[in-house]
Amino acid sequence: MSNTNTILTIPEPKKVALKKKPYPKIAPGYSMMKVEIAPVCIEHQVYKEHRFEWHSDKERQGHEGVGTICEVLPGSKFKVGDRVIMYQGNPCQECFVCTRGLSPTHCLSIPYEHLCESQNPDTALEILGGGHAIDAPGGLKDIENQCGSESGGFGFSKFRIANDYMIQKIPHDLPFRYAALANCSLGCTYSGIEEMDVKKDDWVVVAGVGFIGFGSIINAKYRGARVIVLGRNPFRMEQAKKMGADHIVNPDDEDWLEQIHALTGPLKGADHVIEASGYPYYQKKCLKAVRRFGNMWLYGFLVESSEPLPIRLLDEIHNRSVRLSGSHDVHVKHREGLLRMLCNPEVQCMADHLITHEYNMSQGAEAFEAALSKKAGKIFLYPQENCPNPGLSNNLKELVAGYE
Ligand SMILES: [Zn+2]
Ligand SMILES: [Zn+2]
Repeated sequence: MSNTNTILTIPEPKKVALKKKPYPKIAPGYSMMKVEIAPVCIEHQVYKEHRFEWHSDKERQGHEGVGTICEVLPGSKFKVGDRVIMYQGNPCQECFVCTRGLSPTHCLSIPYEHLCESQNPDTALEILGGGHAIDAPGGLKDIENQCGSESGGFGFSKFRIANDYMIQKIPHDLPFRYAALANCSLGCTYSGIEEMDVKKDDWVVVAGVGFIGFGSIINAKYRGARVIVLGRNPFRMEQAKKMGADHIVNPDDEDWLEQIHALTGPLKGADHVIEASGYPYYQKKCLKAVRRFGNMWLYGFLVESSEPLPIRLLDEIHNRSVRLSGSHDVHVKHREGLLRMLCNPEVQCMADHLITHEYNMSQGAEAFEAALSKKAGKIFLYPQENCPNPGLSNNLKELVAGYE
């Protein structure tokens, strides 16, 4: 067994370096995984701007992953060799969020309100310049603290430790490549779509499309909804069509709203609207595109700006009785249904268009540059340096070449 760990670090903006760390240690209630795929989420933004979420720092990056259990303690419900999904966070398992099976990213042990009050509200949940991850409960750093381990709490690691509550076994015939979408692409959007109760033939608008928007499209199509994508990037619109988007509306068209009304007919708007960019440009349009008594779900938030949501309360919410919500991540109670969806062959075909690039972890800079190019969907890193075909997926080469 290897006696070291290898992690990805972002020592300064636009720089990636692998670093050796001591082999992780586990405590009761935790297991260790050999990480097979560590998907990229927002780390390309960290690479570009060196702004960090509260629980992370320049040596602690990545929160998504799949792998193989390689070490357990006596009494564990897992065994060495189990293939698993790792979910993010270190929840208390006792608060109402945890006991109701909601997303552990919202566990009461995480002091969001306190973090907001005690710091500059504009940067409350970020650490500028790559200082040190905040030692609050509930986050990934807390896993290292609880296990007395110098590494392994985070996703971009060769070996990762996770709370047993945050590990889900997968069937032997589900490829890691599809299971790896269970976090922040098909997973977090599964929970939003489920909470909105999206049904067959409902109208769903997805606005501001990146990998969260793509995940929303796939989830909506899986439920038989009709999907209108509000977007401008020609490459991504082609991708969206390949995932089954029924209509594309360019938000710059003067009559973009009339186009949505023409499609949705007597409803005069979509049953459900998903905002996936975090930009006020799309937020304003989403508020217009949703029908009366419709749902608007906000996934997008900007790390670099905390501009308030542009809402005229009476006109846009009260008079139209719009339900507004947002969230991160997968509810625990949704994991079983999510896993069933990941095993669905049609979903896997759509996912082949969502996964655009795969790299070895040592090629992290290339991966982040690909994400910043905006000609990308979901990007995977392989911490064991065994990526089968590094770079852009073969089935996308022609499409990308068309937009050079
Ligand atoms: Zn909790
Ligand atoms: Zn993520």
